[in-house]
Amino acid sequence: MSVESNIQQIITQLPRHIRLVAVTKTVEPDVIRHAYQAGLRDFGENRAQELMRKAPVLPPDIRWHYIGHLQRNKVRQIIPFVSLIHSTDSLRLLEVINHEASRAGRQVDVLLQFHIAEEETKYGLDLDEAIGLLNSPAYASMHHVRICGVMGMATFTGDMTQVRKEFRHLFEIYSRLKSAFFNTAHEFCEISMGMSGDYRIAIEEGSTILRIGSAIFSEE
Ligand SMILES: *Cc1c(COP(=O)(O)O)cnc(C)c1O
Repeated sequence: MSVESNIQQIITQLPRHIRLVAVTKTVEPDVIRHAYQAGLRDFGENRAQELMRKAPVLPPDIRWHYIGHLQRNKVRQIIPFVSLIHSTDSLRLLEVINHEASRAGRQVDVLLQFHIAEEETKYGLDLDEAIGLLNSPAYASMHHVRICGVMGMATFTGDMTQVRKEFRHLFEIYSRLKSAFFNTAHEFCEISMGMSGDYRIAIEEGSTILRIGSAIFSEE
């Protein structure tokens, strides 16, 4: 299977309102270009170094998504390239993003990452932490970030009942935050969930952004 046919196969299953982010973390620019030629414009990286290496050699109309754990000292480097940061998992990180966006004279879109999986190792906020963040005076004074929704990763398991439960949990968090903190319908609209192994379930549970790597780029 080629990259082009993998993409076609996924796209035909997608409702129109869902955005497909092709995760390119192990993929070189030559191959990324095939996905671009197949029509994709949203690409995701999980390391600042890789984003900075690839973005300048690929077409400028690509929207780069930062999906990995983000260290505060890497924010400045990615700001010029990034379109949406999925992995905002603390107020301190959000403060740095706001500060660096202000320095660069731009506004940056972010998602709040939630810990929904059973694994200890996955980063993310819980609901109370997010409420604390959204209620904080620090957040109230930020003018260079826009929180557009939520992101989460399900447990790496073949148990799709478990995965579905975790996606439902993320949707529930999203709904509660939206009604409590965002007044207009067009704010806080994104739910980034669903990877190669579980994106069909994610679609059923309300995902608006899929992050798919191996199902696009593996040649099997
Ligand atoms: C690697 C990665 C993905 C894509 O995973 P696949 O299983 O290859 O589709 C999605 N989200 C994050 C945060 C990742 O690190």
